[in-house]
Amino acid sequence: MGDMDDRDLQDGDEAGQKQGMTRRRFLGAAAVTGAAAGLMGVGPISAAFAADDDLNAPEIAWDYETDVLVLGSGPAGMSCAAWAGRGGAEVMVLEMAAAIGGKGILAGGNLGIGGGTRMQKAQGMLETADIIYQDRTVEALRTDGQKMTIGDVDGGKHTVGQWRKISGCADADGLARVFADKSLDTWDWLDGLGCPFIKANVSAYANVYRGSRYYTTTAAQKVDRNGADGTMEAGGAGLLWPMFDDATAHGAQFFMSHKMTQLIREGDRSGRVVGVEATHDGKTLYFRARKGVFLGTGSWNGSANLKKLFLPWLSMYPHVSGQPYVMNDGSGIEAAIEAGASLTTDRGSDWHGWHRHPGTVWHSMSAPYGMPGTAEPSTATCIYVNADGNRFMNEEIGEDNPAWIGGNPPFYFAQLCSQQKADKDGPIVWIILDETARAAQSLDFTVDTTVQSDMYATAATIAELAPKIGMTAAALGDTVTKYNAFVGATDTDFGKKSMTAAIATGPFHAVKWGIQKHNTLGGVTINDKAQVMDWSSRVIPGLYAAGESAGGMDLIGLAKPIVFGRVAGEWAAQETTTSPAPTHVTLKADHASLAVGKLATLSSVLSGSDGIPSGAAVSFEVKKPGESSFHAIVSRKVTDTGAASTRYKLAKKGTYSFRARFLATADFATSASKVVKVASK
Ligand SMILES: Cc1cc2nc3c(=O)[nH]c(=O)nc-3n(C[C@H](O)[C@H](O)[C@H](O)COP(=O)(O)OP(=O)(O)OC[C@H]3O[C@@H](n4cnc5c(N)ncnc54)[C@H](O)[C@@H]3O)c2cc1C
Repeated sequence: MGDMDDRDLQDGDEAGQKQGMTRRRFLGAAAVTGAAAGLMGVGPISAAFAADDDLNAPEIAWDYETDVLVLGSGPAGMSCAAWAGRGGAEVMVLEMAAAIGGKGILAGGNLGIGGGTRMQKAQGMLETADIIYQDRTVEALRTDGQKMTIGDVDGGKHTVGQWRKISGCADADGLARVFADKSLDTWDWLDGLGCPFIKANVSAYANVYRGSRYYTTTAAQKVDRNGADGTMEAGGAGLLWPMFDDATAHGAQFFMSHKMTQLIREGDRSGRVVGVEATHDGKTLYFRARKGVFLGTGSWNGSANLKKLFLPWLSMYPHVSGQPYVMNDGSGIEAAIEAGASLTTDRGSDWHGWHRHPGTVWHSMSAPYGMPGTAEPSTATCIYVNADGNRFMNEEIGEDNPAWIGGNPPFYFAQLCSQQKADKDGPIVWIILDETARAAQSLDFTVDTTVQSDMYATAATIAELAPKIGMTAAALGDTVTKYNAFVGATDTDFGKKSMTAAIATGPFHAVKWGIQKHNTLGGVTINDKAQVMDWSSRVIPGLYAAGESAGGMDLIGLAKPIVFGRVAGEWAAQETTTSPAPTHVTLKADHASLAVGKLATLSSVLSGSDGIPSGAAVSFEVKKPGESSFHAIVSRKVTDTGAASTRYKLAKKGTYSFRARFLATADFATSASKVVKVASK
């Protein structure tokens, strides 16, 4: 009995047992059959639910099976589906919404991918992969060739390269290099698919990031698909539909209104991600992925918990950008966390992707998908007031400014708003203007068409307008009177420069800002193959991610999802689906007298035709008398001959089941296990 160097494990031993509970219970409860019809007419596979004690048997009755399972049909998912299909993999896409495209199909279509595209060349713009890489990591240069400081904004204290290092956005995970190297080829692919690029566009932030001077855009395309009225004017559609066509041409099957609710990972956060649990039409379904599961579920914008983690101040903005078309609830990131994924945030998540829309919280770029809101009134002829009827800012401060400008910090509007009183929709900020200003700009304030009824009011006088928006006539009246006195003189309160007309001619209008986070940064950690990493910086076998679900690289918008979705698809398609070795585990449970108080010796041997992988481990598990599921006892590395053993003290009378399991790794896609039962007297 004294021949083993490990301690004797017994009932009540905590190591491993707690760990094992959740997943075991979950797998044990997975005896579900039946399936919903898939969009493309695929039928359910037949898989019998196997009892725990069966030899080397699966534990889940899979309803569907494929090579690469893509979660989400936004730019990241669509790109992954197309490239996994191009790589020869069988692909299924689960999308929780009723239609494809995610936020991407609502987007303006400005696409920050370059590297020397035909349009850049035609317009005499010089960009290469190395320039993209340098701008994202080392020393970004200004358009005049000077090294850029942070937007030339912090008094020249830091260059952009230094800032990226300070903020952790340099190329720690190798993402920027891959992004730079894959950009041109990815743009060429989209171009070849017929994405209607119309020009290479100079970014508004040209003074900050040299690379992003060269946005290309698909803006203002009419695409005769989807949408309530069958048409859509949105640049993002010009990207998403051609990618969808490419994905389906390569065999991808789309399952709409299918929400992934849990990732299924073998072992206790130590094995491979082999599939997902999903819900559809009130039913629970199981999808198996032989090669990989791809997380393209978008942002954490709709998750209260993830907002608190990544960007606490956003908690006061309840709306999800792109709603009601997209309700990204963070379920993808949360499921990945449960499966062991680590998180990476980007310093830039404080900064980027702020958006405001006059008159609606349901904004999208395209009316069929939400209320478009009215155009932004010129700041020269309006004021912004808070719930008390007071101005609180210089209205000239823009919504989305990532740089320190005029001594104001980035996203100053957001910061100022967050200090104001809030209601169910977020901070209360009203735009006040008169009829002359409205008419001059042809602003459309049609209730329930361009503006929500609770976000617009009008009245013949300011005194009548004020109570309609929850203010006293005196407070709003004083504010307007004071402002009108600044017009033609000086705004001694906030320093506004351009004030072209007083707010004087009725009827007067009040339009509320709808405020949302348009893009989010921060998500699960990925490596340069878009594989998800755990908290020990190990790859989680079989799990890939990109887009707003993935952190790293401090880059907002469509470019990162499309490039890294492609990277994931290419790599996932290449994963091996069969395990050459090991294929079998044997297990013996021995003792001269198997009785209460005695130690059972558990010996297992791993075997297979192609040898034993170095570092392979066998997990020993127990199901005690009266229990319905296994608990981990201990994990042991096997010897060169595949052997491993441990001992376990029997504390009760009855039947013990012991299981030895080899858990799949990045190299070996299948698991093997063996169960033996012993009776304790
Ligand atoms: C109005 C608007 C305009 C924009 N304009 C631009 C622009 O011009 N340029 C630019 O670069 N960026 C723009 N963006 C941002 C850009 O659209 C996003 O950054 C991009 O779409 C993110 O892509 P994604 O694939 O990561 O996520 P998404 O596009 O959000 O797609 C995620 C998908 O996953 C689905 N999903 C989520 N959870 C689950 C689940 N559990 N199971 C199954 N499916 C799930 C969602 O329904 C969604 O379809 C804009 C965004 C908006 C809202």
